Amino acid sequence: MPLVTSKEMLQAALEGHFAVGAFNANNMEQIQGIIDAAVEERSPVILQVSQGAIDYAGLGYASAMVKVAAQEADVPVVLHLDHGGSYVQNVVCLRAGFTSLMFDGSKLPYEENVRITKQIVELAGAVGIPVEAELGKVLQSRDSVSEDDVRAAMTDPLQARDFVEKTGISSLAVAIGSVHAMQAAEAELDIERLKEIRAQIDIPMVLHGSSGVKEESEVEAIQHGICKINVATMLNQAFVGALIQAYKDAPDNVDPRKWLVRSRDAVKEVVRHKMRLFGSSGQITASGYASAPKSFRSAQLGHLE
Ligand SMILES: [Zn+2]
Repeated sequence: MPLVTSKEMLQAALEGHFAVGAFNANNMEQIQGIIDAAVEERSPVILQVSQGAIDYAGLGYASAMVKVAAQEADVPVVLHLDHGGSYVQNVVCLRAGFTSLMFDGSKLPYEENVRITKQIVELAGAVGIPVEAELGKVLQSRDSVSEDDVRAAMTDPLQARDFVEKTGISSLAVAIGSVHAMQAAEAELDIERLKEIRAQIDIPMVLHGSSGVKEESEVEAIQHGICKINVATMLNQAFVGALIQAYKDAPDNVDPRKWLVRSRDAVKEVVRHKMRLFGSSGQITASGYASAPKSFRSAQLGHLE
């Protein structure tokens, strides 16, 4: 089916107390692994393209591959910009057909973050495309952050309310204890902080850096308004791990497809596991989202006209 926007998808997740996995799309095999899992699991899915993926594959390739994947799938697929760094980059991705945007102004002074986010929301809103923004900072593990750094960068609940009111965003990435690019799932989320933010805002919230978070903590967060969970590092680990093993098994092989198919399958199994954990498996039925209230279920799955 054609791409859908993340607006209805995340609203269904909020109403139905599940989360949609947002998986990073870096190459064809990763995209195929993700989509195959979504189709088999009857799960909605977000394929997200980062600046790194755009640098690697080129915007044209990256967006076209996701569009083809969506076209061939019979579950809803969103093409999302992960950590858009500027107004211009969001405009470029909007023109390239992205159905969900993100502006990450978390490193900017607060008022500047508000100003640019609002501009993007107004522009994208004119053509029905929702925007995610970030408040507080989800740090990078390569910065070798301390416990205190993570705590100091957490989202402030009252500021979150002000931010949502002033910008009109559709979803908010919150900093509640996760860190990007962690190699092991060791972090516990600050669920009390999440509840405090939830008490102030009613839009879907997004968890970044999930590869470093304990799974029981993720599940708890979904019960308190986390509707989109970004998964990147874990997919890369699965991809590379399978590739190394495939090479060891057949070091004389010169056909890359024979190795890459193993990586594709490994990605698919990680995605399947996450979709079951997040409760998005089995959500797509003939009449709409399974867990959403009846009044909402009949609403469209979010197709772009
Ligand atoms: Zn992120």
